[in-house]
Amino acid sequence: MTGPKHVVIVGAGIAGLTAALALAQKGIASHLLEQAESLEEVGAGLQLSPNATRILDDLGLADALAGRWSEPDHILLSSGSSLAPLASVPAGAAARRRWGSPYGVLHRADLQAVLLDAVRREPLCTVTSGVRIGQSRQIVEIAGDKGDLVIGADGVWSRLRHEVKGALPARYSGNIAWRFMLPLGDAPACLNPRTVTAFLGPRAHLVAYPLARRGVFNIVAIHQCGHAPAENWSSEGDEAARTRLAGAFSGWHAQLRRLVEAAETPLMWPLHESPDGPWTDGRRIVLIGDAAHAMTPFAAQGAAMAIEDAAGLARHLAGAADLPAALGRFERERRQRVGRVRARGAFNRFAYHARGPLALGRNLVLSLRRPESLAADFDWLYGYRMPD
Ligand SMILES: Cc1cc2nc3c(=O)[nH]c(=O)nc-3n(C[C@H](O)[C@H](O)[C@H](O)COP(=O)(O)OP(=O)(O)OC[C@H]3O[C@@H](n4cnc5c(N)ncnc54)[C@H](O)[C@@H]3O)c2cc1C
Repeated sequence: MTGPKHVVIVGAGIAGLTAALALAQKGIASHLLEQAESLEEVGAGLQLSPNATRILDDLGLADALAGRWSEPDHILLSSGSSLAPLASVPAGAAARRRWGSPYGVLHRADLQAVLLDAVRREPLCTVTSGVRIGQSRQIVEIAGDKGDLVIGADGVWSRLRHEVKGALPARYSGNIAWRFMLPLGDAPACLNPRTVTAFLGPRAHLVAYPLARRGVFNIVAIHQCGHAPAENWSSEGDEAARTRLAGAFSGWHAQLRRLVEAAETPLMWPLHESPDGPWTDGRRIVLIGDAAHAMTPFAAQGAAMAIEDAAGLARHLAGAADLPAALGRFERERRQRVGRVRARGAFNRFAYHARGPLALGRNLVLSLRRPESLAADFDWLYGYRMPD
């Protein structure tokens, strides 16, 4: 055997669509199965760092994306109570120079639309929507009849994950994200339309950046919450949940407090993460993206890792004489990278939500760092190039 000839991908999200394109680039045909009847406005804003945009560029998507995203000048950390800037990492032209590819912000639906459009134009890819993969038997049939390999790209509550022995379901992380949009003209003065700003406070943080094409700020307010919500991607939350949200930001600067309290139809996203475990059955199933390693968004890298997985898997599968061995190599390579990114996310979680003396120490350390030296801390992450 010289690599799989035909692959079935379950899930046409960021991981699945990117995988289809990356596989096609290697001459491998794929059939995407997606549960949604149509792919539309799901999700909210995404930051796409240069390690991911480099891969999308290699897939020929740079021009299409350039019309959809904007490139912030800086990534700022600021105090949620005083609004004082704590640290700044240059992005924009500096990101292109330093990491060789843009740092873009856009709506997830815009990224998905660009990917889907490219998939539809690719003769080696087909998409069937409105198909929800459920039973084990169905998966075995798919693997047996329609593909040499089944890729589980079905997100944090992956059904395919149940088919990989030893892989445990995602668990609640103890944090809730609230996502909402705010027209640029209605935003308080502390929101800068040229930056990604993360405001930090005790047990909570709030990230704001513009989605220029839509004329809005994307706001993500994350707070710790021991109250584990039901397994659900997003919902409007009830009165009690809104009260907990307001409470989490009550000690913040009035501009941000009002922003949170006045949010119209914010969506509540209980943040789940996958425990460590195998990503492949070693034979015919492999998991990528959130299905393999859902992580909290403290490093803003979930979609970026899904995109890296897709490119990495295609490279390992191309011309593979031994499929199980290729899957093993893919998993080993990606596990190392994803582990480091996860550790960075855990560190950010600790630093962003610090309180008392720890927060003072954090602020002092950050105040001593120059923007260039802070940027250098991200070279391993944003400057990453997939191995040959
Ligand atoms: C608040 C928040 C902020 C974030 N910010 C960022 C950020 O700034 N940058 C970043 O890189 N990442 C960010 N992320 C993470 C990012 O959104 C995810 O990591 C990414 O969307 C994962 O992509 P995926 O394709 O693996 O899964 P998904 O995008 O969830 O796609 C899974 C697809 O599979 C389909 N599906 C599911 N089950 C089935 C089934 N049984 N049969 C058929 N189809 C199925 C779904 O309908 C869906 O289309 C953020 C996440 C959150 C919650």
